[in-house]
Amino acid sequence: MPVYAYRCLDCGETFEQVEHMVDHDAGGHPKCPRCEGEKIAQVFAPFFPKTAKKS
Ligand SMILES: [Zn+2]
Repeated sequence: MPVYAYRCLDCGETFEQVEHMVDHDAGGHPKCPRCEGEKIAQVFAPFFPKTAKKS
């Protein structure tokens, strides 16, 4: 299933959202998990997990 990255334009929080086709059809954009703002921009850049790099 697809995972999308979003950024909140109010507080700057970046988060991932797993979206099903049903969800996408039903409702538009997710809310920010931090401030529940609805000004959400989709991020198309690669989203790096916190554990990605080992030097
Ligand atoms: Zn927010």
